[in-house]
Formats: sequence, structure tokens, C-alpha cells
Amino acid sequence: MDAIREDLAWLGFGWDEESRQSAHETRFEKFLDVLAGQGQTYGCTCSRKLIQVDQGATESRYLGTCKNAGIAWSSGQGIGVRTILAPQMVCWNDMRLGDFTHNPQEQCGDILVRDRLDQWTYQFAVVVDDLVENVDLVIRGMDLLDSTARQIQLGQLLGRNSPPSYLHHPLLLDPNGNKLSKRQLSKSIRTERAEGVSANSLLGEVCFQGGLIPKPIQIEVPDLHTLF
Ligand SMILES: [Zn+2]
Repeated sequence: MDAIREDLAWLGFGWDEESRQSAHETRFEKFLDVLAGQGQTYGCTCSRKLIQVDQGATESRYLGTCKNAGIAWSSGQGIGVRTILAPQMVCWNDMRLGDFTHNPQEQCGDILVRDRLDQWTYQFAVVVDDLVENVDLVIRGMDLLDSTARQIQLGQLLGRNSPPSYLHHPLLLDPNGNKLSKRQLSKSIRTERAEGVSANSLLGEVCFQGGLIPKPIQIEVPDLHTLF
């Protein structure tokens, strides 16, 4: 059991044993077929370095260089696959921050589904897994706020009727204001644990610092859902 799993078990969390990548290959293939069947995919040969981006955009926005190039794609050929995101305003509600309206096409352009090394991208994998596993509540850090609208739109293309509920919490920072790495987090969990802090106190402290509760209290994992 690696460090993160041991920490999670100590805090009282359980998890599904299936790993995201290999075991889910079949479902990713299936949903790529769904997109392809709708004529929503195209091959992309752009390297990460050579991708032409929209300099005026707030993040790297793919300009659709390969969209009309008619590049055939199949695995093992060194060709990525993108899905077309039609310009569309996506309105969604964050349970902590309120309403947002984003246009994914303007934010990021057409989304990479599988890269040139045949690896499924995070954006695609997470949407497929949440759909297949009926995940209806997503709690995650603020760093993924801008990914939400594109994931909702992608979910629609894959046939999801209603999107999950979302809650984005502030990131846990180290004393220098940098995002905590998983290793740092693990180290601090171990330190607290060695100093005799209980799992329930630590969980309460994390929920407090993550902006989920107004003051630190003891919390058990089964009670976490009552915070929302
Ligand atoms: Zn391209």
C-alpha cells in the first residue's frame, strides 16, 4: 500500500480498487466511438510544442489547426484525437461559489481526447468515468474550476442527461503560499499523526481550511456528506 492509500485509510476513507487507466480502456474506446459516430472527432498531429494557440486567450486555446485537414486517426500511428466543441455558453452552479457561464470553445478550443502516445487525456477520462459510475457530486480544488464547463459539454456529447453537482474548494497551501504537493501533504499527515492528532480532528481541520465549514470541528468520513 503506498503512502497516500495508507493516509486515506487512516483518515477513514475507502475506495474502489479498480485503477483508472488500464481497467477502463474498454469504456474509453467505447465513448470515443460515440464521439466519432457523431462526426465530432478529428485527427491531430500537432506536437505540444508546435500547437498554435490563441495569444489573447487566458489559457492555451487550441486554434483548430488540424480540424479541416482530414487526418485519419487510429491508435499506434502517433496521431492524437480531438473532439469538436461547438461554441456554446455553458451555465452551471458551484455549490460554494454560485453561478458561472463559460464558453469552452473560447476557453480551450477543441479538446484532446487521446494524445499522440495513445494516452487518454484527463478531461476525457474523468468525464467518462463519472458518467459510467453515476458520480453525481464532484468536490475538488479551485485549480479545476475552468475545466468544469468543458467537462459538462463533453458529458452532453457522450450522452449524459444532467451533469454532476460541483463544489470547488480553496487549495491547501504551504507556508509559502504554494499548492501542497501530494508528498508534502502525506508528510504533514504523518507528522500530525505522530503528534497524536486524531483522524477526525485532522479531517475537520482540512475541511475548515478548504472552506467547507466555518470552524474546525471533529468530522468522521461518513458524516462528510452532511457538509453539503
Ligand atoms: Zn492539430
